[in-house]
Amino acid sequence: MSPRANDIDRLAKYPEDMFALLRELGLFALPLPENYGGSASTVSACLAVEELGRVCYNTAYLLAVQWTPFSVIDASATQAQKDEWLPDLASGKCRASISVTEAQSGSDVRGIQTTAKPVPGGYLISGAKVWCTGAAVSDYIFVAAKTAVDYDYQNQEKPGEIHFYKIDSSSKGLTIGRAEDKMGARGISSHPLYLDQVFVPEEHRLGAHADGFKRVMQAFNLARPIHAARGVGLAQGAIDHSIEFIQQRRAFGQTVDSFQGIRWIIADMSMQTEAARSLVYRVAQMMDDHQSQTELARMAATAKCFATDVAMKVSTDAVQLFGSSGISADFPINRYMRDAKVLQIIEGTNQIQRNIVSDALLGRVARQPSKKNII
Ligand SMILES: Cc1cc2nc3c(=O)[nH]c(=O)nc-3n(C[C@H](O)[C@H](O)[C@H](O)COP(=O)(O)OP(=O)(O)OC[C@H]3O[C@@H](n4cnc5c(N)ncnc54)[C@H](O)[C@@H]3O)c2cc1C
Repeated sequence: MSPRANDIDRLAKYPEDMFALLRELGLFALPLPENYGGSASTVSACLAVEELGRVCYNTAYLLAVQWTPFSVIDASATQAQKDEWLPDLASGKCRASISVTEAQSGSDVRGIQTTAKPVPGGYLISGAKVWCTGAAVSDYIFVAAKTAVDYDYQNQEKPGEIHFYKIDSSSKGLTIGRAEDKMGARGISSHPLYLDQVFVPEEHRLGAHADGFKRVMQAFNLARPIHAARGVGLAQGAIDHSIEFIQQRRAFGQTVDSFQGIRWIIADMSMQTEAARSLVYRVAQMMDDHQSQTELARMAATAKCFATDVAMKVSTDAVQLFGSSGISADFPINRYMRDAKVLQIIEGTNQIQRNIVSDALLGRVARQPSKKNII
């Protein structure tokens, strides 16, 4: 029954004990380069989140939340920034989160309105964010902001570029708002952020002038196989619970696992999960082999979309197999279904993943940010 996993979900309280356990096991370092104590292995990182996510979505999420800032650093930090920030992330001494989404723009990342105003020695960041997961416990947050104007290599003015800025949680002018009351992913709270002229020193901006937005997108590409692996773990956990339940539940004088209609549902759940697993580890291996970003973008999106859609389908079928018990909070299975829905939305919705895949195959279709989003 995995009682701790149920408690974390029910109480919606940050699992400090699970964070301490992951730190003790040294798991935060897994995908990081060897010189930072890691194994430089996305495959290992995927295995860890799959196995943990099979039992407890929120414990696996602790790893993913810590690793998304790592993806940001990997995609755009200088060597000096890596040396300064990665060791404490790897050991779990420091916690970090990322904040891109705003009330008026989630999928439409270019539409963000948070601004970075250049001032002597750095930038003043102003704006409002939503859904920053982990903000309440983070030592710092990578906040995406847009310069009002930027300059190309010939010093010509061009529309503002988006970069991540590292903002310490104790910074003057930063307020972390009330936690969202969420249907899933309840163990790690998500918060709005209010930024009122928060000063960020020059050396805490990530990415060069011209390629900020590209680097932000690369960070998402690097993080997506991890979320895909969480989908596989979640689906497998739903299958585990379902098998245990249908082998005991009786109807018409026999256990329900003897009905062919039920057996075929379990077979389909397993086939879909195995297909997702193969895809996820193929993409994880592509990352470890340092394949080109173009090919990786398509395949990371393919894996994230497919595996998390499978998680949703499989966990919905699992609730059906439980009958009325599937609806009851006395059984763990509806937690799987609620958490699966989150996976289809975070790190780019699955519609956006389909856009990435079809753009790669057919060429990109222009999508305009709405006028009110242009600053
Ligand atoms: C639990 C949770 C945790 C989160 N944590 C973080 C975090 O830590 N940091 C952070 O920055 N954000 C976070 N988010 C925000 C998340 O990244 C966004 O919710 C997501 O990108 C979608 O944006 P949106 O909610 O504004 O939906 P919208 O972009 O408004 O989309 C609404 C609907 O339209 C669809 N849609 C939009 N554009 C297109 C298109 N071009 N083609 C087809 N369909 C489209 C979407 O798929 C969706 O179905 C979190 C969200 C959740 C639910």
